[in-house]
Amino acid sequence: MPLSADCRALIDALSMPVFVVHGDGSLEWLNRRARQLLAGSAPQSIKSLLASPSQSDAFLRVMRRNQSFSHLALHLRAPLQDSYIASTRIAREGEFLDCWLLELLPRQLVVGGMHQLSQMIQRTTALKRERAVAEKTAQLALTQASRDSLTGIANRRAFDECLAAALVKADQQQDWLSVMIVDLDYFKAINDTHGHDLGDQVLQRVARLLSGTLTRRGDQVARIGGEEFGVLLPGADVHASLKVAWRLVMTLRQYNAGCPAGDSWHPVTLSVGVATRCPDQSISGRDLMRQADRGLYLAKERGRDQAVHAVPSAQTDPPLADTR
Ligand code: GH3
Ligand code: MG
Ligand code: MG
Repeated sequence: MPLSADCRALIDALSMPVFVVHGDGSLEWLNRRARQLLAGSAPQSIKSLLASPSQSDAFLRVMRRNQSFSHLALHLRAPLQDSYIASTRIAREGEFLDCWLLELLPRQLVVGGMHQLSQMIQRTTALKRERAVAEKTAQLALTQASRDSLTGIANRRAFDECLAAALVKADQQQDWLSVMIVDLDYFKAINDTHGHDLGDQVLQRVARLLSGTLTRRGDQVARIGGEEFGVLLPGADVHASLKVAWRLVMTLRQYNAGCPAGDSWHPVTLSVGVATRCPDQSISGRDLMRQADRGLYLAKERGRDQAVHAVPSAQTDPPLADTR
């Protein structure tokens, strides 16, 4: 398809060198800027622009691959619609030459090329979608592996991992770290009297109440056993952790008092055992939990519905503001 006079005028007006070539590499025409650059020695084909055939092949390959100027084709007038525009920078004898290539291709080729391109895009999109689904499934499996299926909060496994990480962090930052074991009082009796389903509902509500009460960033709550919950309080010393523990006890008391008759809730109280790692203390997560368990044992022994810190000192007295 020879270029019309209009097209030649248009391309001639461009300040960049343009080589108009056919699909086989033979030159149709050079614009004014290209002619200036070549100083009148117009080559017969694009290949003869460069010294060696391997270089010219590479040149053509780069030209055809470079789609960065293809958008320009969209703005060209109708007679140029079958053209393909590419650009590249070639180096010759230490000089750089930015070339623009306008390739005249039969329309079917371009359409075929576009078809292939759209197929490629579709395949890539489908692949991306498949990958996204696979990633989501893996993420879900990971979440499910760390969530308790009944209450939706973290499970024992996640708690153990968080505790190990919190201990490392506390060690690095020379900070306090407290843990709590929260156990429902006489829960077996609720199950025995009202059935396992109501027991499950109570566990779900307690999980929500605990999560809702522990609002400080970094605090973690998990269901670590049947009717037992573990709580991590990074940065909390003995006094602060006891205050939080009593807040949990009080939350349950208030909730029991505020629940309307006929609600599916059955009043239940909490006992909490608390243990604290001092900033310079070296202690394993297991031992810290063992201490908290001792606190829990004392809380049960002293009548339940209360919080006890595992340290045998006056510090275990509940903070007054939270217990009255
Ligand atoms: P204590 O005050 O000494 O803790 O008494 P308790 O009855 O709470 O303690 P015990 O260990 O005797 O009983 C715990 C009960 O928790 C027994 C078990 O049936 C119940 N339980 C454990 N897991 C679940 C659960 O997933 N759903 C329900 N509904 N009950 C559970
Ligand atoms: Mg228990
Ligand atoms: Mg119990």
